[in-house]
Amino acid sequence: MASVRVRFAPSPTGFVHIGSLRTALYNYLFARRNNGVFVLRIEDTDRTRYVEGATENLIRVLNWAGLVPDEGPEQEGPYGPYFQSQRTEIYHRYAQELIESGRAYYAFDTPEELESMRSGKLPQSASSTRYNFLIRDSMCNSLSLSHRDVERMLADGMPYVVRLKMPADRIFNVEDIIRGHVEFDSKEIDDQVLIKSDGYPTYHLANVVDDHLMQISHVIRGEEWLSSVPKHLYLYECFSWQAPKMAHLPLIFNPDGTKMSKRDITSLADLPEGKVDPDVESYIRAGFERDAILNAIALLGWNPGDGHEQEVFSVTELIESFGLERVNKSAAIFDLQKLRWLNKEHLGRMDEGDLLERLKPGLAIKGWDRFSDDYYTRVIGLLKSRLSFVNDFFEYGAYFFQDPSEYEEKGLKKRWKAQSANLMLEFCQEIDKLKSFNAGAIEEALRQVAERHDVGGGQIIHPVRLAVSGFSVGPGLFDLLEVLGKERVIKRLKKAVEVIPALLQQ
Ligand code: GLU
Repeated sequence: MASVRVRFAPSPTGFVHIGSLRTALYNYLFARRNNGVFVLRIEDTDRTRYVEGATENLIRVLNWAGLVPDEGPEQEGPYGPYFQSQRTEIYHRYAQELIESGRAYYAFDTPEELESMRSGKLPQSASSTRYNFLIRDSMCNSLSLSHRDVERMLADGMPYVVRLKMPADRIFNVEDIIRGHVEFDSKEIDDQVLIKSDGYPTYHLANVVDDHLMQISHVIRGEEWLSSVPKHLYLYECFSWQAPKMAHLPLIFNPDGTKMSKRDITSLADLPEGKVDPDVESYIRAGFERDAILNAIALLGWNPGDGHEQEVFSVTELIESFGLERVNKSAAIFDLQKLRWLNKEHLGRMDEGDLLERLKPGLAIKGWDRFSDDYYTRVIGLLKSRLSFVNDFFEYGAYFFQDPSEYEEKGLKKRWKAQSANLMLEFCQEIDKLKSFNAGAIEEALRQVAERHDVGGGQIIHPVRLAVSGFSVGPGLFDLLEVLGKERVIKRLKKAVEVIPALLQQ
C-alpha cells in the first residue's frame, strides 16, 4: 500500500476556527491510524487576507492540542519550505509550463475592464459575464493579442495575471471518500487566475503543486472546498500528475442551523440563543480540557459506528477508532452542552497525579500548598467526578484545606434540628474513641448514635456534612470524614455546635 501522507493547509487569516481544528484533527488521526505522515503547510499567498500573528497563533493552538506535525514550519522536512509565500519561484515555474503547453495564458485586463464585463457593460458581456470559454477570446490576453504585443506588454512591465484555460466540454468526476461520486461540468467553471498581478499564486495553483510535490496521498478538508475540485483535477491532468484521494468533511453549524460567526458572540457565558463561538481559543480560555475539546470536535461528523455507544474518547482511543468511512455527509452541529458534558467526563477519568500537577499552581496561589501529595491525591479522588472544570476544585474542595467560613443557609434551615447539637456531640465522643479513623468505622459509629436515639442516619449525616464542609452536598460523607481526619472533624463539629444555633436565630 502506498504510504499515507496528509496535510493540514490553513490560511493564516484570523482566529483558529472550530472547523479548522477539526480538519487538523481528522488529518492527524488519519495519519496516526495509518502510520502516515502529518504535514502542516501554511497557505499564506493571499497577502490581502494575511493577518499578522495568525500563523504563530495557529501553531500554538496545534501544539496545545498535541496535533504536532511530522513536517511543517517548525519541524521542517524533506519537502519544505512549508510556507507557500517562500515557494513563489516554484509556482512560477509550473505556471510557465502551463503557458508553454497552451493550458494557461497571460491576461492584461484592468480591474475596471473586468468590472465592466461582469456588470454586463462590455459588448462581449452579451456572451458571458464570467471570464470563461465564451468570452476569453475577446478579452485582453495572450489568446486574443498577437505574440509580439504580448512580448512587448510583458517587457513594458504591464500588470498581468496568468489564467487557466478551462476546457469547455468536459465532465470531471471524483470519487470522494465521504461524498461518493461527484460530477462537475467544466462549462460552469471560469478561467481561474493561477498567478495574481502581485506575483503570488492563487490557492488553486499553489495547493495542487504543493500537494503533488509534497506527495500528499489524501486531501482531507472542509466541504467548502468541494467546488474547487474540478479546477484542481484539471490542473493535475495538465501536469500529468495523479490526483490524491479526496475526502470533504461536512459543514459545521450553530445549534440553530446557521453558519457559525464570531460577530454573533461576545462571551461564552452569554451566548445568543442558538449560537456558539467558532473560535477555538475561547474554549481554551474558558478552561475546557484539551481532551474534551478534541473529543467534541471529533464527533462533529464522525461516530464510531453502529453498535458502538462510546462517546467519551481519549486521543489514543480516537486514533484506534477513527476512519474516514464513518464520517457523515450531512452537516454537523456544534453543541456546547455536549462539550460541557464531555469536559466533566474527561475530568472524572483523569489520573489523580495528572490532575494534581494541573492544580499545583492554583493551590500555591491559594496558599494551600503545605499538604502532602497523598492528602491531595485522596481529596482529588473524592472530588474529580464532581468537577465540571478544573478550577471548580478550588470552590468545591476549599474545606479540605481550611475550615469552612460559612454554612449554606438553605441547608442549615432544612437540616439542622433542635436535637442536632446533641447528636453531633455524641457522634464526636464516639469517633474520638476510634483507633482507626476509616470510613467503615465512622459509619458504624454514626449508625450506633442514630440507633440509640431512634433517629434515621440522615438526622446525623446531613448536619455533620454541613458542619465539616459548609455545604449540603458533596462526596460520600464517610470517605470525606476519613480524608479530613479525626482531629479536624472533631474540631469542626464542636465549632458548628457552638455557632450554628446562633446563626439560625438571626
Ligand atoms: N488554505 C485552505 C484553507 O484555508 C486549504 C484548503 C485545502 O485544504 O485544500 O482552508
